[in-house]
Amino acid sequence: MAKSYISSSTKQAIFARAQGYCEYCKSPADFTTEPFSIEHIQPQSKNGSNDFLNLALACLGCNIYKSDKTTFIDPVSLQISDLFNPRTMTWEEHFIWDERFTSVVGKTAIGRATIEALHLNRRPLKNLRRALIAIEEHPPK
Ligand SMILES: [Zn+2]
Repeated sequence: MAKSYISSSTKQAIFARAQGYCEYCKSPADFTTEPFSIEHIQPQSKNGSNDFLNLALACLGCNIYKSDKTTFIDPVSLQISDLFNPRTMTWEEHFIWDERFTSVVGKTAIGRATIEALHLNRRPLKNLRRALIAIEEHPPK
């Protein structure tokens, strides 16, 4: 089945709802070289729709790592956990910044599993966060 169309007005609304930040790693679209994607929280391959409530703004890296995953192993409990859903959960409920604001720390199984699945502390992201701190653009307000 062909992927269905997401209108430019819907894309703009998704970008505005996310305030221009990746809804997973919180990197700002204004400071990345790759265009951000509209990500299906429930993947299209698992019958996820193009409904506004199933879509999230994601940087290219997070979108690629998430792929069609909806669950992943929590590295603490070693149990399978759901991934973070930016439509039904709040980021602060599942994640916190470390003391230097360069790494995301999982507060819950969902947070930890999402950090692992999406590589939310990948080296380029940590470098970007360091650079953004220097110009007072990180952490997000
Ligand atoms: Zn991201």
